Order: sequence, then structure tokens, then C-alpha cells
Amino acid sequence: MKKLNIALAAVLITLATGCSKTSGVGGAAGDATPETLRVNAQFAKDLKLDDAQDFEDAKRGFIAKPAGKILAANGGVLKDFDAYNFLEGKAADTVNPSLWRHAQLNANYGLFKVTDGVYQLRGFDMANMTIIEGKTGWILVDPLTAPETSSAALAFARQHLGNKPVTAVVLTHAHVDHFGGVLGVVTPKEVAERKIPIVAPAGFMEEATSENIMVGTAMARRSLYQFGRDLPRDAKGNVDNGLGKDVAYGAIGIIAPTWLIYKPTQQTELDGVNFVFHNVPGAECPAEMTFSIPDKKLYDGAENLGQQMHNLLPVRGAKVRDALRWSNYMDQALEQTKDAQIYIASHNWPVWGNTNIKKLITMHRDVYKYTHDQTVRLINAGNTPREIADIVQLPKSLSGYFGARGYYGDIRHNVKAVYQFYLGAYDGNPANLNPLPPQASAKKYLELIGGSHKAVASAQTAFNNGEYRWAAELLNQAVFGDPSNKAAKELLAKTYDQMGYMAEAATWRNSYLTAALELRNGPPPNVVSEASMIQMLLQTPVERFLEAMAAGLNGPDAEGKDLKVNLVLTDLKESYVLWIENSVLHFKNGEPAADANATLTLTKEIFVKMIAGTAGVKDTLLSDDLKIGGSKIDLVRFFGLIDKAPGTFAIVTK
Ligand SMILES: [Zn+2]
Repeated sequence: MKKLNIALAAVLITLATGCSKTSGVGGAAGDATPETLRVNAQFAKDLKLDDAQDFEDAKRGFIAKPAGKILAANGGVLKDFDAYNFLEGKAADTVNPSLWRHAQLNANYGLFKVTDGVYQLRGFDMANMTIIEGKTGWILVDPLTAPETSSAALAFARQHLGNKPVTAVVLTHAHVDHFGGVLGVVTPKEVAERKIPIVAPAGFMEEATSENIMVGTAMARRSLYQFGRDLPRDAKGNVDNGLGKDVAYGAIGIIAPTWLIYKPTQQTELDGVNFVFHNVPGAECPAEMTFSIPDKKLYDGAENLGQQMHNLLPVRGAKVRDALRWSNYMDQALEQTKDAQIYIASHNWPVWGNTNIKKLITMHRDVYKYTHDQTVRLINAGNTPREIADIVQLPKSLSGYFGARGYYGDIRHNVKAVYQFYLGAYDGNPANLNPLPPQASAKKYLELIGGSHKAVASAQTAFNNGEYRWAAELLNQAVFGDPSNKAAKELLAKTYDQMGYMAEAATWRNSYLTAALELRNGPPPNVVSEASMIQMLLQTPVERFLEAMAAGLNGPDAEGKDLKVNLVLTDLKESYVLWIENSVLHFKNGEPAADANATLTLTKEIFVKMIAGTAGVKDTLLSDDLKIGGSKIDLVRFFGLIDKAPGTFAIVTK
């Protein structure tokens, strides 16, 4: 039986890095041009970059910092604590100075005391892990992305704070950078035996295991641009992600919550500490909650509230988020923080003092509402997404506040998200109703202007004039319309360098610089290791697998095929009938069909491993836990119709 493989990857960045297979034009990242220097100097002039408050807050309560590296089981480096040491002093020419400042703030890592009985481990991963001292042990909030980093963080805390047991785990939301490391701080056995509460918002498990499965392969590929995985860590590469530094994707896992927060506001005692949870679904994450600890005058904003403007639509792609709802949650947060003196969150550094907390929340409330309202105003005045993106700018009262600037989200992308939320991706102009695909139209344009060399010559002039957006547009046509034009790729890479160096949003910088890297080196040899997701996949409902598998059916190849397969999962005592009809793969939970071509009997674990590609054909076929009834040939034909997407597709070349 051939290895099964379907689009099951979440937004994942694997351990293996680097671009060994070179199919690009080669070359190295350029220096900053005079125009880039000018733009960056203007940024530095317009902002109070020497404002010291954030730097004091980011260092406040520092206890100790770790050294060296955190390694994955295969020896790959998950975290190198020295990787960002270059972020010293004034901004490099090749980094937007506002982003440089933010990157320096996020470079403060280690163990920090927030207040009596509350500690944070920052910089062990992209997110923070918070420790709250209970009566008998520690309540851990958001145990990072990977067990490798969460266990290292916990061990580091124990080294400095004493050896306390974990008495509860709080998972604020269903994004993997906040729960994927849970198995590094507790085991399912401990949770069952010691009845450790695993507290999460309603809908957590469903969202955690499903949000990124369906288009996970493409999303993971695009996330390399957002997070800049393959970029060097230096002033011409990755300096930050906005939310923090590297995502440390190791062997991610999940544990089903034992305690769901389902009311809008719900008071709960955990190990003697009184928590007030606030559900905030459908804004930053489909399942998310914030919380207050009134006795400590502390408020945790989870990821609804951080030290930058968030994404209404990440550049990696996602379902679009609701700006108005998000803003409304900020209004509620103002109510919830009436007495708060300390704000902490899942990313970045804390804020102390009620006035400062109120300001942070108010700024976020108004950034999202301004973005929403002004986009809607301009939509109703007849503007389309690209036009709105060039018009909307935050008022000075909002843009002058660092804690809501676009280091992760960018307002030019967020206004497009608002447009999409209400009207979809089509701008209403029939010229865009059925346009030629990009490569075909690029060829036509090149024919019209007399060849790709003309486009490159014109783009060179634009580049020399610092018109990088136009240069990129022209060169993109040249590369798509004439993939053999090496000069077009070289100049496009140089153009993206400059666009990256000027970008204030870390996600935009990473996107441009990754584009340049791939023009020079080709697409990456790997994107996602499904094996690293195995613990999480084992917890994913079978229906989610089958839905994703159905979406991998090669429609044209399936035309006229009439096949039916029984899937019997012995450990779950469940069976499914899978069949192809009208080139569509259907399934239903029920008794095996008597007229099926074949019956596959196995455990869910083997099924998952087959799909994830961690169990080879031999292992699978020799396993005592697997039986094949009926026609083996039909079974192979059936699964042969499921496309395997390697997920390393080209983005900036064709
Ligand atoms: Zn996060």
C-alpha cells in the first residue's frame, strides 16, 4: 500500500532548516540604499524611540536568564538564546528603527518576577509561560509551543524558585504556540492521577485540532514568509516576529481540557487562587479567554491584547477576524481592569499601573475600531481594498503609541481584512471577475512591451528612484512571464531586500526577505514535519482527518470511479464507510457496508501514523493491528486517488 499523505499540517515550522537545494539565481542580500536610509531616518525622527518606559517594563523583575541552546530530540536547534545578541545599540541601516526598538524589547528573555507569586518565562519560545503560585504548587498559564521549550522553561524556573509541583494548567486560547508544549509540563497520567485541572475556554479542543488542518499545507508554507524561518538571524535577516522571537516547533502535543470556561465571565478557584475568566471567542482566536486575579490586582489579556497591533488577517492566511468584536472586547476589558495594577499577556512584556493599563487597552480598542470604521466609510464611498490600504492612516493620538503600532499586524493589510470580512476578496470590478491567471497575463504584458528585458530596464530605473513598490510589480510580471530571465529575479530580490529593510511590521520584513531569499536560493526543501505533530494528531477527531482526506481527492483522476471502502477503527469501536461518487469523496459513520470493495481494519493510532507518514508501508502491513479484507488492489486504487502535497511550492517564482 502506498504511503498515505494528506494535508494535515498545522501552522508549523519544522526543526530542519536551511535551503540546500539551490534553484535560484544566487547572490547575497544587499546593503541599504539611500532611499531606504532616508525612509528609516524619517521613522526615527517621527517617533520617540528613546522613550524608556517600555525598556524598564521589559526588564522589570528580572531574576535570571538561561544560556546556550534548547535542542530537539533529533539534535536540531529549537532555541538559541544567543541568536539575537546582535540587537545592541542603535538600529542597523538595514532594519526599520521602530522595529529595531521593538525587537530589542522582545530580546529581553529569562525568568521575571511580575509581582508576589507571579512569574513569567519569556524568550524560551515565541510566547510567554506564566507561573502563578497556588497554595500547594504552580498554576502554569500557556505552556509554549513545544515540550522541549516548556520543560526547559519549567526546569529553569525550578532552579531559581524551588521545586514546586504543577497543580493546574491554564490554556488561554487554541493557538499552538500556547498549548503545544503542554506535555512538557504535565503528563496525561499525572493529570488523571493527581486530578490536575486543565482549564481552557469552551470550544478549545475543536478549534485547536481543526483550525489549521484543512489548508494546513499551504498555511504552513506561507507561514515561512510570516515568521522568516529560513532567514539568518542578523541585521539583514530575521530580527523579530512582532510577538516575540522564533517559534520553537518541536514535538507538539495537546491534552484535552478537564475544565471548560463556557460563561462570558466565570469565577473559578485553582489551587487556592481566585480567578475570574472572561471568554473572548471569535476575535484573535475562535476560542480564547482572558482572566483577572482580583487579589493580586492582575489582568491577563491572553493574546487579545499585546504590545502591538495584531492581525485581522495574518499574511500566512487564516479565516478573517472580526475587528468590531475585537474592539468591543477591549471595551469590556476596560470594565474588567477597573482595579487592575498589573497587566500580563501571552506575548511581550507586562505593564504596571492602572493608568498605563487603561491606556494600552484604550489604544487597542480604538486602533481596531478606527481601522474598522474608516474602512467601512471608504467602502461605502466606493473604494476598493488596494485603494483603502493607501488611504487609511491612524490619527497621531493612536500612531504615536508604541504598544499598538504595527509590528505584527499592519494596518494596510488589516483594512483589506475588514473589506474581506464584509464583501469578500472580489472588489466588484468585472475586470477582476474573470481575469487571466497571473502567469498568462504576465506573458501578454511582456509581449506588449517588447520582452522581459524591457521590464527589467524600466524596473531598474524605478529601483534607482526608490520606487520599490512599482519595481516589484514590474519585476513580478517579468519573473512570471519569463521565468528564464535571471536579471529579473536578481533585481526583484534586491527590491524585496529594500522593502524588507524599510518594513516596520516584522511579518512584512520576514515576508519580503524570505521572498528575496527564495529568489536567490529556490523554495525550501522542507516545510513541515508531520511526524512532529503526531501527539496532536492522535487527539484530532477522526472526522477531521476524513474531511481533510476528502479534500485531497484528485477530482479529475476520480472521474468515473466508483469505489467504496470500509474503515474499521478497532480501538475506538467505530467504523466509517468511505465512497467516491461524482468525483467526490464522502464518508459516514456507520456499520461497514456489505458491498464495499475493501475493508481496512486498524487502530486510530496506526491510521494517524499512516496519514502522517511516520509509519512506513512495511510497518503498517506487518502490523498485527491491521487487517485488509476484500480487494487489496481496489484499496490501493482508492488511496491512490488522494493527492500528496509536498507543501514546498514556489511562491515568488513560477
Ligand atoms: Zn500566540
